[in-house]
Amino acid sequence: MSYIFSLPEHPAVPIVGSEALFPVNRIYCVGRNYEAHAKEMNTDPKREPPFFFLKPADAVVIKGAPVPYPSRTDNLHHEIELVIAIGSQARNVSVDNAPEVIFGYAVGNDLTRRDLQLDARAKGRPWDTGKSFDQSAPIGPIYKREEVGDINQGRIWLSVNGEICQDADIQDLIWQVPEIIAELSAYYTLQPGDLIFTGTPAGVGPLKPGDHIEGGIEGLGTLVTDIIDSDF
Ligand code: MN
Repeated sequence: MSYIFSLPEHPAVPIVGSEALFPVNRIYCVGRNYEAHAKEMNTDPKREPPFFFLKPADAVVIKGAPVPYPSRTDNLHHEIELVIAIGSQARNVSVDNAPEVIFGYAVGNDLTRRDLQLDARAKGRPWDTGKSFDQSAPIGPIYKREEVGDINQGRIWLSVNGEICQDADIQDLIWQVPEIIAELSAYYTLQPGDLIFTGTPAGVGPLKPGDHIEGGIEGLGTLVTDIIDSDF
């Protein structure tokens, strides 16, 4: 087999305690999965359950690489999130069996062009330009489930230039991890290499070039991202 141009390097994420990398297949994201965040987005979590959208696999940013301020936005936002790394195929998996398909967990930041997302939302259009842009998915190293166990609770937080903006607990997820996997696997065949961003707690806010972001989840280390000048 030959190709008309050389294949790009496959997007991949480091794994704690392993030389081998986690090759990224799809990136799924859950929207409005914490009640307080749904409310800050002026939506009612009781009437509108969480939902899914996607980012391209090559949106991942690894090893704390800096992120240039994206084009076509004046309102880039941070969203700290627990990320699930899928390790085996799953379709219509039950809530009880869902944990078995988890390879590990990581800290992620669902970077969002909030102005474009809200404009799309108001017009009933897809969210892609608001959510699925280049370098929109910074992610920390993956911690193996066999080593850290299941992440059902623990502090999730994010600071910008040393000031805490987001501070919550994983147990406040509306759809917990097994429910997310069960629900998602009823829509899509989950594959090894899939990542699932599970939603962000309240406290999202704007970023600008020069900002230093730190975010973490208890047991999963810290993700550091610097926003630098636009290169677009
Ligand atoms: Mn998000």
